[in-house]
Amino acid sequence: MEGIIVKGVAGFYYVKTKNEIYQCKARGLFRKDGIVPFVGDQVSIRVLDDNEAIIYEIHPRKNQFTRPPISNVDCLVIVMAVKKPEPNLAMMDRFLVMAEFYRTEILICINKIDLTDDEGLQIYREIYDSIYPMVFVSGKTEQGIPLLKKYLRGRVSALAGPSGVGKSTLLNKMESRDLATVGEIGQKSQRGKHTTRHVELFDMEGGGMLFDTPGFTSFDVMDAKEGELAFLYPEMVPYIGECRYDNCRHLSEPDCRIRAAVEDGKIHKSRYGSYMDQIYEIQTMRRY
Ligand code: GDP
Ligand code: ZN
Repeated sequence: MEGIIVKGVAGFYYVKTKNEIYQCKARGLFRKDGIVPFVGDQVSIRVLDDNEAIIYEIHPRKNQFTRPPISNVDCLVIVMAVKKPEPNLAMMDRFLVMAEFYRTEILICINKIDLTDDEGLQIYREIYDSIYPMVFVSGKTEQGIPLLKKYLRGRVSALAGPSGVGKSTLLNKMESRDLATVGEIGQKSQRGKHTTRHVELFDMEGGGMLFDTPGFTSFDVMDAKEGELAFLYPEMVPYIGECRYDNCRHLSEPDCRIRAAVEDGKIHKSRYGSYMDQIYEIQTMRRY
């Protein structure tokens, strides 16, 4: 029988098949081979009796993340807020680069639009509108939520973004069950607390599935190589290979087409700034 792992707790994996969820153990051989089943894995299971089943095969993964340990993500939804917390574009670009690196589709979701007028959304529109699909929502008033659901229908998606932007709140609105817990606002801080303890994969209202993960709040220096980074910025890709030097890193080299595109306003300065920061970070890491 075929299914998808929707939860893993204390050595058991919960596999959702067409009609049922089975509590499974992983085949002993996996551990010997160092294979760890991930939530999101497509697997083959064998039912031994009513209460027990084993996973005997994990199908090849489309992609996999290690923090959090999830696999087969179709779409990564990068969530940011218009306010509380204030937009952090450097962090936004790190999440975007991570999503590109793992080859997921990308949707930008700007939350808390109830806290601002149209002007507050302008910064996001100006920088990202021409690069990525974007939805503006409010987890509080539910404005834009139907559009978000529609976009994610039929896909397996995960929400990523800094803490406090409203990921758990949005999860609650999207899941067909009300299982994510939204933290209370602390007395001293404006931030919500994410209370999810383990990774789960939920059915979404209207079709599709959504990961509920405790992680994804930050992203370490990417494993991308220096020469690969520009490929993770879709708006830079048309210019790659057009510079004077083949190994141009687009920093201070002469006749750099990417820098020229920044000057011409074809690549946004903010995005180029993130690119530079990340290149320096990769270069610094490499020296140690
Ligand atoms: P997470 O850390 O990203 O999971 O964020 P939470 O979902 O815990 O939300 C953090 C805080 O923001 C909570 O106090 C929420 O009630 C609040 N919040 C979430 N969405 C919205 C929204 O659309 N508008 C407003 N005003 N507050 C929101
Ligand atoms: Zn260049």
